[in-house]
Amino acid sequence: MKNVLFVASECTPFIKTGGLADVIGSLPQALIKHEKMEVRVILPLYDEIPSKWRDQMTYQTSFHVPLGWRNQEASLYTLEHNNVFYYFISNDYYFTRKGVYGYYDDGERFVFFSRAVMEALQHLDFTPEILHAHDWQAGMAVALAKIIQPIPNLQTVFTIHNIKYQGLMPHDMFDEFFSLPREHFAGFEWNGMLNCMKSGLFHADKITTVSPTYAEEIKDPYYSEGLHPILLERSDDVLGVLNGIDTDDYNPLKDSYIEVNYRHSRIKKKENKVLLQEKLGLAIDPEKPLFIMITRLVEQKGLHLLQCILEELLHQEDIQIAILGTGDQEFEGYLSHIAYHYPDKFALRLMFDEGLARQMYASADFFLMPSQFEPCGLAQLISLQYKTVPIVRETGGLKDTITPFNKETSKGNGFSFSNYNAHDLLNVIRYALSVYYDNDNWNQLSKNINKSQFSWKESAHEYVSVYRALSEVKV
Ligand code: ADP
Repeated sequence: MKNVLFVASECTPFIKTGGLADVIGSLPQALIKHEKMEVRVILPLYDEIPSKWRDQMTYQTSFHVPLGWRNQEASLYTLEHNNVFYYFISNDYYFTRKGVYGYYDDGERFVFFSRAVMEALQHLDFTPEILHAHDWQAGMAVALAKIIQPIPNLQTVFTIHNIKYQGLMPHDMFDEFFSLPREHFAGFEWNGMLNCMKSGLFHADKITTVSPTYAEEIKDPYYSEGLHPILLERSDDVLGVLNGIDTDDYNPLKDSYIEVNYRHSRIKKKENKVLLQEKLGLAIDPEKPLFIMITRLVEQKGLHLLQCILEELLHQEDIQIAILGTGDQEFEGYLSHIAYHYPDKFALRLMFDEGLARQMYASADFFLMPSQFEPCGLAQLISLQYKTVPIVRETGGLKDTITPFNKETSKGNGFSFSNYNAHDLLNVIRYALSVYYDNDNWNQLSKNINKSQFSWKESAHEYVSVYRALSEVKV
């Protein structure tokens, strides 16, 4: 039996702010289908987790978590869902707050979580051989697992889901949080700061990231957010494994959030479009090409590019655009202004809403994802499932999953452009519209999309190989 413990900060169906939650919610399900794999997940017990789930949890035990001069209390809860065991760590001070992230002490909150995981390991009815930590929030768990060794020979995997977010704190927090010999400081510090992501990268036995292209990109200063020297140093241990999605869950034939279920039918998709147009106050017209974005409203997602061309697009093309997301004030303000001026053509919902997201995937013709960088991206994969055509910039996982449609060869499952340039985006949107209005080409593109599916099957296999290789090293 290979026992793996996932350490992460979000996971569907309990709590989600982005793609990380989708991955943590679906990858264990795929892994346990492999012979002799047992995968469990440990998460913070946020106040934000709906009572529907909290009510099903079983209290396990409570323990102290040493954090420098602090001695915090934590409680451990468990829940089994779809054959996977979940552990939740509660602490009123750190996790009884609104939302998930965005607090001045986020660094400390997840250092606490990582430290609490070390204590929890003594109380679990499960002995992991591998601790698989995800993103900066779990980076310190890797470092502590290697230094404290709560379980002898515990091997560690650290997965980078987005290197932009690193969990930075003043370097003197090292002494504040950890009662560790000074010799360890170098493994935690980067550019004068305490850095959770660097700590994970430095200490992990194996490093993975969520697409082969991103695994290469982050060795380059343009994409590395300053961490390329470490990734270059550790390049033999860095592997890109493409994310998948749960194709059972994201299935337009079964999705209970959408009104008109469908498999391939363009007509039924248009029925969903009309319902969405009504809901969002857009002009009702099933033939009008509808572009959507469902995203965190941050620079990474290419919003500056969109900003440069949005009015030109709305003026010159007979299209509709709907955006669902929350994020930076700069973009929320700008898009609200556009929504005010183009009510028939442009709809904006500044919220996180899983149901509306699914209805939008089901209704749209195109999904815009002109990202500056994109470690993997799940939205383009979900779009393919709902027969919505992705328009992406060729970066990271977008490059690995979307092949541009070519009228000559009839190949391709979307549209793409290479340079981070607003007019290249505009041109590709116009090219996509020319395909939309040409039945033969559109039918060919739809057929190609029907054939492209990104489930976890192959990638789960790759992770199993990573775990097996690590266990062999250990023996
Ligand atoms: P990232 O993880 O960088 O945010 P991904 O494309 O990997 O981007 O994953 C985003 C996930 O979050 C997708 O499942 C997407 O549908 C979902 N999502 C993003 N914003 C919202 C929102 N405002 N409401 C509902 N779902 C959202």
